[in-house]
Amino acid sequence: MSETIFSKIIRGEIPCHRVYEDDSVLAFLDIGPLSTGHTLVIPKEPAVTLDALSDESAAALGRVLPRLCRAVLKSTGATAYNILQNNGSEAHQVVMHVHFHIIPRFEGRGLDIGWKPGELDHDEAERLAGQMRQLLDQDP
Ligand code: AMP
Repeated sequence: MSETIFSKIIRGEIPCHRVYEDDSVLAFLDIGPLSTGHTLVIPKEPAVTLDALSDESAAALGRVLPRLCRAVLKSTGATAYNILQNNGSEAHQVVMHVHFHIIPRFEGRGLDIGWKPGELDHDEAERLAGQMRQLLDQDP
């Protein structure tokens, strides 16, 4: 994977407003916040998208995310927030290093979501879910 701005932040070559750090994870404030307290949580492992991340880094992220969310909520006074995690440029990923956004929601500030639900085709859904179960059995 190629070098990103986040690799430089991990190595301390570019400054950040650090919120949390351990051997596997770094969290810092987003430089272009959607709202006050917008925080990025990244693995130190250099994976581009979540599906490419090791179980170890995924576990390290999962262990600390709820704590980070609590700190973001308490420090900002927000009572609601979104977790956003973009994978691939078609999904609006700009920095090609896995990251989770913690975005506090305030009146008029935060993540705007254009949510257009479709209707589930149950035959297609059962076929797809079965295919996913099969793939998961082969990817323990
Ligand atoms: P994404 O669109 O999910 O790839 O989001 C990348 C995020 O990284 C954006 O919200 C940027 O504002 C943020 N970002 C880019 N460079 C920096 C930086 N040097 N420090 C903090 N956040 C950054």
